[in-house]
Amino acid sequence: MNGNNLNLKLKIWRQSSPNSVGAFKDYSVSVSADTSFLEMLDELNNDLEKKNELPVVFESDCREGICGTCGLVINGQPHGPIPKIATCQLHMRHFKDGDTIYIEPFRAKAFPVIKDLAVDRSAFDKIIQAGGYISVNTGGVPDANEIPINKNISSEAFDSAACIGCGACVAACKNGSAMLFVSAKVSQFALLPQGQPERKERVEAMVAKMDEMGFGSCTNTYACEAECPKGISVRNIARLNREFFIASLTSQANNE
Ligand code: SF4
Repeated sequence: MNGNNLNLKLKIWRQSSPNSVGAFKDYSVSVSADTSFLEMLDELNNDLEKKNELPVVFESDCREGICGTCGLVINGQPHGPIPKIATCQLHMRHFKDGDTIYIEPFRAKAFPVIKDLAVDRSAFDKIIQAGGYISVNTGGVPDANEIPINKNISSEAFDSAACIGCGACVAACKNGSAMLFVSAKVSQFALLPQGQPERKERVEAMVAKMDEMGFGSCTNTYACEAECPKGISVRNIARLNREFFIASLTSQANNE
């Protein structure tokens, strides 16, 4: 080790296309402990390109823990070993000189690998399209705070709305369930007056789309909550189940 430099072995999942067979490939890097995890991969890719080798494909955008793009499984954990941060917020100081780090894509039937570490998470977009919106009437801009909302309720809605749609909950779940994600999106609207017009249709449509997209069932292991970078609580799943039950009863009554 030189100063705060770390010499690391990387075992990175390489897969050239969705249907090809992937495998771990070995790499060595020497990086500063102050480097972020994604910057470490950037440095590796610079070296690979200099050697005329194909760079490792991975996704990132904001690199501030907001956009939810940068999901990787690091040493078996979605977003790595530090709780409540996204991959882009992880720094190399959390590893030791000489460590071997396994880097894989999020693995779930509903998130097929596109290439190397990049997966297709458009199933989440389709769930949002099914019901993750509210009706807004046209006309003048309403006054701020025109609709009074209890502070505890607004805080709870805000906590649910903190979900960044990264998919770590799906990758952490042995069933590949998207219940934490869907429950956060349903909750943020179900708690607020603005979400009431489509409340029943929303939960039914989003759950139906979740099932159609091939996500698994929830068996209450709480792995999703443990790996969620935003600390989304499984209490949202209980609320989703209640919302879905009430919506189903109303639909059933209307059909009789
Ligand atoms: S619930 Fe958490 S882990 Fe799941 S998509 Fe939202 S932020 Fe990511």
